[in-house]
Amino acid sequence: MGEQKLKQAGVLITYLSMPYLIESLDRKFTTYKLYESHDREAFLTQHSQSIRGVVCGRKDGINAHMIDALPCLEIVATSSVGFDKVDLAKCRQRNIAVVYTPDVLTDDVADLTIALMLDALRQISASDRYVRQGLWQSKGDYKLTCKLSGKRVGIVGLGRIGSAIAKRAQAFGCSIAYYSRSKKPDVPFMYHSNVIDLAASSDVLVVACSLTKDTHHIVNKSVLDALGTKGTLVNVGRGALVDEKELVKALVEGRIQGAGLDVFENEPHVPQELYNLENVVMVPHMGCATWETTKAMADLIVGNLEAHFSKKPLLTPVPL
Ligand code: NAP
Repeated sequence: MGEQKLKQAGVLITYLSMPYLIESLDRKFTTYKLYESHDREAFLTQHSQSIRGVVCGRKDGINAHMIDALPCLEIVATSSVGFDKVDLAKCRQRNIAVVYTPDVLTDDVADLTIALMLDALRQISASDRYVRQGLWQSKGDYKLTCKLSGKRVGIVGLGRIGSAIAKRAQAFGCSIAYYSRSKKPDVPFMYHSNVIDLAASSDVLVVACSLTKDTHHIVNKSVLDALGTKGTLVNVGRGALVDEKELVKALVEGRIQGAGLDVFENEPHVPQELYNLENVVMVPHMGCATWETTKAMADLIVGNLEAHFSKKPLLTPVPL
């Protein structure tokens, strides 16, 4: 399909993404920017006959109501590897293709996981605050922290990101064990058939699985209790994989050692009880938020839409 023909394809952008993605979409397609409209319903009605593609992100996704409002919709592209905010059942029913951005973000999320592990155990952020507040001079050296090298790391969800975390943790001399729906035949790591057993034999429990109705609150009170007072939880998957109320209680009561959190149940709201805990490090869902990866994700979104509207095979389809 020529550039001219491609330009006729109407693509709705639901959220204010980085300029590079918006400019690339503007260049290739006829774009409709939902985030600029004050009346979303009226905007969708007005353009419903022109919109054939939707670009959404991990925060908003696309629900059944919105899909119903777009009768000509053929493809949904989510700028994320998690598609928990896309109504896949509805897309399947309407024969709408769904594409996402796997692989290109794996390294970033795995890198950040190691940073959170190190920070939670060595209390880098807390000791940085100690220095900035002048406490080194007034109170002396910072208290002793915990070693990461050689620890037992348990990974919930040994997928692309989980495997990349395992590779990095191995370089720290950590032993690796994992839980997922089934044992992986060609993986040398210890498999646990349930999360409680994995937690009980881990010093650091890392949550890196997809959020589905089966994995909602996969880390609950029993898992946290199994992790125990010497255990640290790191969550880079999705907030709702962990029962946050129970996590807060476990941290405040000292029933687990610490936590490193990139994701939260009700983002951007974070439990206030965690603000003053030195053994907790929190970052604002920035697992893959680097210039390099965000550009690669944008290129993948545009490439998928180009392929679709040119009737070529999709680059990264979500298996429906
Ligand atoms: P992936 O390769 O598809 O891995 C998903 C993992 O989830 C697999 O290991 C899978 O294990 C496991 N899983 C799925 N359902 C399960 C269940 N019912 N019980 C136990 N395990 C289950 O995906 P990925 O690329 O590694 O990404 C994983 C997740 O990371 C994404 O879904 C997303 O939510 C999150 N993520 C976060 C950020 C961030 O910024 N923090 C960025 C990117 C991605 P089996 O198939 O072996 O059961």
